[in-house]
Amino acid sequence: AKEAGKGGYAVFDHPLNDTFAERMNIEKQLYTAMEQEEFELVYQPQVDLILNKVTGLEALLRWKSPELGYVSPLKFIKVAEDSHLIIPLGTWVLRSACAFLKLLHEQGFGHLTMSVNISMLQLLQTDFNELVLHTLESFGLQPDCLELEITETVLVQSYDHVIAKLNALRARNIKIALDDFGTGYSSLSYLTHLPISTLKIDKSFMDSIPTGTNQATLVEQIIRIGKRMNMSVIAEGVERQEQLAYLLEQGCDKIQGYFFSRPLAAKDMEQWLACWKE
Ligand code: C2E
Ligand code: CA
Ligand code: CA
Ligand code: CA
Repeated sequence: AKEAGKGGYAVFDHPLNDTFAERMNIEKQLYTAMEQEEFELVYQPQVDLILNKVTGLEALLRWKSPELGYVSPLKFIKVAEDSHLIIPLGTWVLRSACAFLKLLHEQGFGHLTMSVNISMLQLLQTDFNELVLHTLESFGLQPDCLELEITETVLVQSYDHVIAKLNALRARNIKIALDDFGTGYSSLSYLTHLPISTLKIDKSFMDSIPTGTNQATLVEQIIRIGKRMNMSVIAEGVERQEQLAYLLEQGCDKIQGYFFSRPLAAKDMEQWLACWKE
């Protein structure tokens, strides 16, 4: 939407304040980025507080464009979705994350799971479930070591269809995590209708911990509801010791965040895991 700005200038009203030109440029570069191998996955550990063990990793996409420099996924994922490039890109992410997980399993980290972010558009592909199952099979990975992270935006679109697909994946023992929980279109009823194995408490809540504000109260309730429904509850964006202590006290299972590690490149993650293993 084009509007008259304050000083009478025309300004573009775009999400994240991206200009149209910037989005166009990102899209243009995205088309060649895959074949030019400009993408990389980094990995962040998920730590079980009770067992004091790393139980899994989340794969996060990075793009270093020779023309644009480092571009945040917060910017390019949206463009990749709009242009449907997210389909081949998402397939690449899934395969690469599974390949790394297989490698780690062979190095003695057989208990690790891999969490992969899945865009709504991927889930809406008719052959998505086959792609997931086939990818696991091709690496000889058990289905229960893969977790698909979805957000509620997935559900707004085509609810019944998506639920059926998720149920089929869950029936095959693939884990489903509800990402960014507590933000956006959050509805508690999703929890009863979806085959969710893991609730991820959004990192925006962490700022309020442990000061006892309404937000912190909400976190306590989210943990309680998740536990009551037999879900694993993980808090993301945990940076400080006092957040960790508070979450542990409230019964939160797992945490992910800079407190333990920033997302690391594959080689660095191998080393990090070897140190943790002591
Ligand atoms: P997300 O899935 O909620 O990922 C968590 C984000 O929080 C990541 O940002 C991570 O680097 C950051 N983070 C982790 N720990 C901390 C912490 O302690 N403090 C702070 N301040 N931040 C922390 P990142 O990597 O920039 O990714 C942003 C978003 O881009 C992701 O949010 C996800 O929605 C999307 N994304 C990333 N990779 C992929 C992908 O492969 N596919 C899809 N569809 N989306 C992706
Ligand atoms: Ca390029
Ligand atoms: Ca995620
Ligand atoms: Ca998240």
